[in-house]
Amino acid sequence: MGQRGKVYLVGAGPGDPGLLTWKGRDVLARAQVVVHDRLVSQAILDLIPPEARRIDVGKNAGHHPVPQGEINQILVREALAGHRVVRLKGGDSFLFGRGGEELEQLARLDIPFEVVPGITSALAAPAYAGIPVTHRDYCSSLHIITGHKKADGQLELDYGALVRLQGTLVFLMSVGSLGQIAQGLLAAGMSPDMPCALVENGTLPQQRSFSATLDTVAQVARDQEVRSPAVFLVGRVASLARQFHWFDRLPLKGKRLLVTRPREESSALALRLQELGAQVDRLPAIRLEGLDFQLPPLDSFDVVALTSATGVRYFLEGLLARGLDVRALGGKRLAAVGNQTAAALSRFGLRADFVPTEYNGAAMARQMVEQGFLCPQDRVLVARAQSASPGLTDGLRQLGVAFCEIATYRTALTEERLADPSLYDAVLFTSASTVEGFARACPGADLSQVKALCIGPQTAQRAQALSMQTQVAPQATIQSMIETLMGGNEPC
Ligand code: SAH
Repeated sequence: MGQRGKVYLVGAGPGDPGLLTWKGRDVLARAQVVVHDRLVSQAILDLIPPEARRIDVGKNAGHHPVPQGEINQILVREALAGHRVVRLKGGDSFLFGRGGEELEQLARLDIPFEVVPGITSALAAPAYAGIPVTHRDYCSSLHIITGHKKADGQLELDYGALVRLQGTLVFLMSVGSLGQIAQGLLAAGMSPDMPCALVENGTLPQQRSFSATLDTVAQVARDQEVRSPAVFLVGRVASLARQFHWFDRLPLKGKRLLVTRPREESSALALRLQELGAQVDRLPAIRLEGLDFQLPPLDSFDVVALTSATGVRYFLEGLLARGLDVRALGGKRLAAVGNQTAAALSRFGLRADFVPTEYNGAAMARQMVEQGFLCPQDRVLVARAQSASPGLTDGLRQLGVAFCEIATYRTALTEERLADPSLYDAVLFTSASTVEGFARACPGADLSQVKALCIGPQTAQRAQALSMQTQVAPQATIQSMIETLMGGNEPC
């Protein structure tokens, strides 16, 4: 018999990718097969290694979920084939997640498994709405209850017992039975004024939360068209939301943004925007490809100029690939076009000797000479992207400085397509090539509806030429772009 696989039952948390546990992320990173549900958020699905096989059991062709028996069989089949299988579920797998049923089968067949608990929506959705599920002044217990109706439409709840408990009640799967539950609690003697809350899409950027009382909650749910997934909370603690609702107050809450950076560079920006409350989609508008460049003898240069953080990476990786390392740059002066490029150098243990105050190639050439960083007899090696803007090299030429340029990488435009570019409150562009890639991704779209936020003037020029509504960050930095989105405020 071949090597036996293993099944990891992983709770993905309620939606915010930051609420996946470290262990869950590590297990996911080494998965060979991932069997996931509908409620696992896209941001977490994005963490699945590209080489892993995905099986979506949240819905099949008829939009019905794959029956539980079949899911159990998939897990068994994949584990017996020797795979590391991650069974990824929303929230926590053991809380109304049928995790127990899946393990029974595995245990019976002696298939090894591990359980990685997740953060349940029953706690996290109230937390993001500013509701502590217990508070010493209000209650001494918490009860998590399913509001799922049986096939015959019946709910089997002992309302009298629930009322007597005097604790916080959290109902999951209750959107369809909310009115019935509220009626049941009222009939069993709970006060019509009892505070309630509804949290839809909890912890996600689209989260909506509503406060109500027991006698108004069904109406509020109808008026606001509350949809699943939502948590229905009943209890005096619900009144604290008014004071503590922190998530809805985040500076970019409610904003939908599109990040167009290449895949390997988009995560940090997307994460930062998400932390500020924005809903972030990604369209890697360009792909980066390293080039097999000819390295001239480094001895003949006094200065090495780098025009992007990506350029730094490809240049230094190129040195390593040629049997060299940073010592080959010993004694040379290093110029970086901006603080990101300087930061990229510092990650390789190198300090930029020069960074212009204005982050573009033309200003860099001019300021290097004006500030005496470059002397007339210096020779400059410019390492840059294949079709980078010629600002720096044109500037050096005009100033009569001798230079040699090498293209260490190139950007290829995306093959992806974007359905509706006008959906976004802002599309973020960090280079002219991302503007090109974006335009290519939405052929035929009316680009005048696109709100472009550009890192600098050259990028903005390209966006304007395509008739987008264009805004430019005052400094050519990502930080400055974020501040622009927030209306000039410092991000907290
Ligand atoms: N195991 C899951 C619950 C599965 S039952 C957990 O621990 O969270 C599915 C129910 O969970 C939904 O009907 C809804 O009531 C709740 N739910 C899941 N994700 C949610 C979210 N992001 N916001 C609000 N409720 C959510």
